[in-house]
Amino acid sequence: MHEQIRKYIYENKQRLLSVLEELVAIRSVKGEPVQGAPFGTGPRAALDKMAGICRNTGFDTRICSDVVGTADLVPEDCKFPSLGILCHLDVVPADGQKGWETDPFKMCEKDGVLYGRGVIDDKGPLAAAFIAMKCVKDLGIPLKKGVRLLFGTDEENGSEDLAIYRKKENLPEFVFTPDASFPVINIEKGMMRSRFTAAYHGGDIISFHGGSIPNAVPDHAECIVSGFSAEEIKKAADNYTSSAEFIVTEDKDNVKIECIGRSAHASTPESGINAVTALMGLLSCLPLTAGKQTDIISGLTSVFPFGETDGASVGLKRSDENSGALTLVFSIFDMENGKCNGCIDVRFPVCLSLSDVEKAEREALEKAGCKFDGYMGDEPHITDADSDFVKALLSVYERIEGEKGKCIAIGGGTYVHNIEGGVAFGAERGDTDYHMHGANEFITVDELMKDALLFAEAIVEICG
Ligand SMILES: [Zn+2]
Repeated sequence: MHEQIRKYIYENKQRLLSVLEELVAIRSVKGEPVQGAPFGTGPRAALDKMAGICRNTGFDTRICSDVVGTADLVPEDCKFPSLGILCHLDVVPADGQKGWETDPFKMCEKDGVLYGRGVIDDKGPLAAAFIAMKCVKDLGIPLKKGVRLLFGTDEENGSEDLAIYRKKENLPEFVFTPDASFPVINIEKGMMRSRFTAAYHGGDIISFHGGSIPNAVPDHAECIVSGFSAEEIKKAADNYTSSAEFIVTEDKDNVKIECIGRSAHASTPESGINAVTALMGLLSCLPLTAGKQTDIISGLTSVFPFGETDGASVGLKRSDENSGALTLVFSIFDMENGKCNGCIDVRFPVCLSLSDVEKAEREALEKAGCKFDGYMGDEPHITDADSDFVKALLSVYERIEGEKGKCIAIGGGTYVHNIEGGVAFGAERGDTDYHMHGANEFITVDELMKDALLFAEAIVEICG
């Protein structure tokens, strides 16, 4: 049977590519809500297109609450599918994104590589999952349990689609999403994004602005200070040990200090250089006039020192064998006209909870003269690595890929973060940078075909 499945998948390569091409051609970027399209007309058009393809293939197909489509392959005596394959049709914007060498909404193949917005995230894996289900159906492989393909429309902007869907519908007992990496991601750290504020009167710092994205290491910060010469500050910058770059210029009677760091995703801050904490560190080396403003700068520098990414100075340094170490990023800071506010992103291992992190941050910020102002966040996600479901996915992976399968933990959240027992299975491999969300997003034809094969085998392994 394995040989039959392989033969079918490779014989249906053109079908897979044409489904993907049709999906890529739809600009399913989030837009203004309109009647029947809560995430805009683009995602809705993609939803209708995919539902049409599934319906024409003979799958029992439905669209739920205008946000999630489902296509079922269920044996006669079975009431509800046991396996869910969760994909999404929405994509991040590409219009105006620099660096594209081809039209992002016209899939293009060059030397066995497919380029286009969504080919890896997540239209390619969806097309592969569709062909996998069609394979099981067309070959008449007997199933004991049913499988449901789910295609959502709001993964890139907070997964409100799933929240709406789950108010009306149950999910299958076992869900995997091919929207992250192989082999299997079973642990996703918890995430807390918090805000803080403080007030002050006067001080040498006229303004400070650094960072703009809450979940990234800031690569730029700048401030205007009075009472110092550019020479004095240049000297301090030379003595201040930091991998960040400082540009000091006269600004009328004041001095402008610009700090250039390196951006990185908040889940991997070690690879970035934080411009906000670097600039604060430099400021705290200057003989600033005593006062509340100076206290805030030195207080924040002591709890969020430059170069520290493990939360040690906040009292949050924790790590566990399965999920790895906590990461903390001071991502945004603005100070001007007597007010300041900032943003902190923390990814925490399964040994901690949101309330632990909140408590530690609240105390640290109070010590720095600031007020913890609330957060949004998610508890960690963990699915048992020894469950039959995970073991089945890993054994299929080992058989097809010919290498040892293992469970991995990540700091980011996937589409199954809030789904109990869910895991990510695909579609990135190894350390390859597929330019997900960037220009020239790609997947190779070989990888896409293998994805379809993996998903077909997974369906048979779990439902057969
Ligand atoms: Zn995605």
